[in-house]
Amino acid sequence: MADSTDVEKWRDRLTKLAPELEFRQWPDVGNPLDVHYLLAWAPPANLTHQFPNLRVLYSAGAGVDQFDLASLSSQVSLVRLVDTSMADIMAEYVLFAVLALHRDILAYQEDQREGRWQPRPIVLASQRRVGVMGVGTLGRAALGRLQPLGFQLSGWNRSLKVVPGGRCYVGPGQLDEFLGQCDILVNMLPLTPETDGILNSARLDCLPHGAGLINVGRGAHVVERDLFSALDDGRVGGAVLDVLIKEPPTEDSPFWNHPRVLLTPHIASDVQVEGGVAVIVENLRREIHGMPLLNVVDRSKGY
Ligand code: NDP
Repeated sequence: MADSTDVEKWRDRLTKLAPELEFRQWPDVGNPLDVHYLLAWAPPANLTHQFPNLRVLYSAGAGVDQFDLASLSSQVSLVRLVDTSMADIMAEYVLFAVLALHRDILAYQEDQREGRWQPRPIVLASQRRVGVMGVGTLGRAALGRLQPLGFQLSGWNRSLKVVPGGRCYVGPGQLDEFLGQCDILVNMLPLTPETDGILNSARLDCLPHGAGLINVGRGAHVVERDLFSALDDGRVGGAVLDVLIKEPPTEDSPFWNHPRVLLTPHIASDVQVEGGVAVIVENLRREIHGMPLLNVVDRSKGY
């Protein structure tokens, strides 16, 4: 597996729950012909060539946009290690970010820095429309966490999904309509050729004036220069960004000091060792019984 500070945790947990597996740490992989399963954030080049008997490549992140899917042999299943605790952690972050925008915390932080004591009107949660782009494993968990607070919820997705208490807008034809009713927009899409740059100037213009944006998908979903223009002229009122095109941003990046941006270093969620190992162990069982593996990435869709 790739270098990681968590290697020992993965080793301990895997050795305990799947003692039949021999754990090897990159670059000490021994005979490459022995390697059937690989856990990696971004695998070495020529993976299939290096490990001709590889059966499953486990992504050490929920996204798989860091992998070159075209170069991966069709014999190898690419599996995401998403589990309920990872979804819970993400839902917690989205809850925090929605509440921060809902209660104008970015504006109050700016007031504090500038010595202003200036209450703003309170908007009821029942009057606030929160929309989630990408109603997948993580999007559903976030919506479920937001529902008890009474927000007006909606989702936008490729296929029709259940959105608690609200409407699911479907496909490109309903995207502008969806955006038009999002006071707070949460991006939870995977990064694919279809979603790359999806939040550009034209799309941001569809949002109600002063809407909030939360991006926990991938930085490249947002055209950053378009976001800055929208923030500067108030079309977007504030943004909570956990992901950027360049992480960390350059020293002179306007992200660091923008008064209407709350930045976090890609920590909204992460693969949890316990949950990740549970997926691996369950997939071993499924492989033995000839059952389909959990969380396999659909190469044709790219996620
Ligand atoms: P899933 O694959 O479970 O869900 C993705 C959802 O997006 C699906 O419902 C899918 O629709 C929808 N979707 C994909 N493409 C499109 C499109 N072109 N138009 C409309 N809807 C689309 O992924 P997860 O929920 O597990 O994760 C989502 C993303 O979150 C990850 O890919 C990763 O980039 C990001 N992430 C960020 C983290 C962070 O710390 N910031 C941590 C973990 C993940 P359908 O169901 O119809 O296929």
